[in-house]
Amino acid sequence: MFGLIGHSTSFNEARKKAMDLGYDHIAEGDLDVWCSAPPQLVEHVKVESATGKTIEGAYIDSCFVPEMLGRFKTARRKVLNAMELAQKKGISITALGGFTSIIFENFKLLQNKQVRNTTLDWERFTTGNTHTAWVIARQLEINAPKLGIELSKARVAVVGATGDIGSAVCRWLSQRTGVGELLLVARQQEPLKELQESLQGGEILGLESALSQADVVVWVASLPKKLEIDKSNIRRPCLMIDGGYPKNLDEKFAGSGIHVLKGGIVEFFKDIGWNMMEIAEMEIPQRQMFACFAEAMLLEFENCHTNFSWGRNNITLEKMDFIGEASVRHGFSVLSLQTDMKASLA
Ligand code: NDP
Repeated sequence: MFGLIGHSTSFNEARKKAMDLGYDHIAEGDLDVWCSAPPQLVEHVKVESATGKTIEGAYIDSCFVPEMLGRFKTARRKVLNAMELAQKKGISITALGGFTSIIFENFKLLQNKQVRNTTLDWERFTTGNTHTAWVIARQLEINAPKLGIELSKARVAVVGATGDIGSAVCRWLSQRTGVGELLLVARQQEPLKELQESLQGGEILGLESALSQADVVVWVASLPKKLEIDKSNIRRPCLMIDGGYPKNLDEKFAGSGIHVLKGGIVEFFKDIGWNMMEIAEMEIPQRQMFACFAEAMLLEFENCHTNFSWGRNNITLEKMDFIGEASVRHGFSVLSLQTDMKASLA
C-alpha cells in the first residue's frame, strides 16, 4: 500500500475541509485547537496503472497548515505524528507532500526516529523529489520549444539551484538536455561554487540579473510572498516553471509574453476517483497531483519499497531515468502549457 501525507493550503481551507468531512469540533476550533489536532487518515483509494496493475493507497492529512510554520515544535510534531500514523497503518511507502518534506529536512527530523513507542522506519518514506526533478526537467524540454525557445541556445535560470530538486534539475539540463547556458541562483555562495564545479559550468548570478537574461526560469525555492520583481526586465518570450510550494508565480508574472507553468505536477491517464487532490487545489483533481505524491504510487507499482528520494543532493540521473520511465509506463504525463498559453495570449 502507498501513502500520501499532505495538508491544506491555508487554515481557512482546512476548516472548510474538516466541516465537509464531518469533523465539526475541529473545524470550529481556533489555530491553537488545530495545533493539537492529531493526523487523520481521510481516504482510501485503489489506482489502476496503464499496465493494468492495481494498487491500494491512503491519504493522511497531517492537520498542519502553513500558518503553523513559525511554530517549530508544532510543525515538527505534526510531521512526525503523520509519519507514525502511516507506519502504524502498515503503509509500505509514503510520500511527504507540501511543506512536510521541507519541515522534515529543515528541522532535521532525522534525529527524531522515536515517536512515542514507534521507531520510525525511514525506508517507508520518500520525499518524492526525484520524480519532481524529472517532471520539471521534462516540462522544460517539452514546453520551451512550444514558445519558440531553442534549448541548445537558451539561457536557463534555476532559482534554488543548490537545493535537492534544483541541483538535480541542473545536472539533467547540463548533461541530458544540453541547454545553451545555465544561470545558477541561490543566496549562499559556497554551495553555488561547489555546484558550478561539479557541473563544470554554469554562471552564478543574483536573482535580478538572472531574470533579465533568462529565456526560461525554473523556480525551485520557496520564495517570500512579498518578493517584488520588476517585470519589465524579463525577456519575451519567457517560460517560467513554478516548481516551488506554494505555487504563486502566476499572480506575479503571467501575461504579455511571460508564460507561467505549474511545475512538478503530473496528470494520470484516467480519473482516480478520490477527493484528496481538491485539498491541494489541482485544476483537475481527479487526475492531477504533485509529482512527489505520484512517486509513492510509482514505487508501489514497481514494488520498490524503499526511501527512493531521501536526504539532500542524492538524486542521480540514473534514478531520474528509472522514475521517469516508470511514470510514463504507468500512465502519467507532465502538465503542459496548452491551457495556460490560451489564457495568457488572450
Ligand atoms: P531545498 O531546501 O533543498 O532547496 C531550496 C533552494 O532554494 C536552495 O538552493 C536555497 O539556497 C534556495 N533558496 C531559498 N530561498 C531563496 C531565496 N530567497 N532566493 C534564492 N534562492 C533561495 O528544497 P527542495 O529542493 O526540497 O524544494 C524546493 C522547492 O520545491 C520547495 O519550495 C518545495 O516546497 C518545492 N517542492 C515542490 C514539489 C511539487 O510541486 N511537486 C514537490 C517537492 C518540493 P539558499 O538557502 O542558499 O538560498
